[in-house]
Amino acid sequence: MGVTPDSGFVEVSAPPAEDGGFLEDDFLADVKATAKHPGGTCGMARILASLEGDPLRWKVQQALDDPGYTGIGIATVLTNRGYPVSDYTVQRHRNNKCGCARWPT
Ligand SMILES: [Zn+2]
Repeated sequence: MGVTPDSGFVEVSAPPAEDGGFLEDDFLADVKATAKHPGGTCGMARILASLEGDPLRWKVQQALDDPGYTGIGIATVLTNRGYPVSDYTVQRHRNNKCGCARWPT
């Protein structure tokens, strides 16, 4: 015999046994990462984020804040201008029913 196992094993370092903090921290960080939504979670927020620095952003925000502008109207014009969004998404956003309200940026 005399076969020396040509081990491909990498030495695995054990997690700190005392508090196990290392593994737990990773877990919590991962969970937190899934809950973070930079720029908002919904399609409306993503459009607003993409309009950062664009004067159009203020007009869109103005329309969202003014009930005189219908959600379907905002959605239609935005979609026509290359920012596809549904009126449902617009309405949820302006009524704070979307994910943005729960995860403010
Ligand atoms: Zn939103």
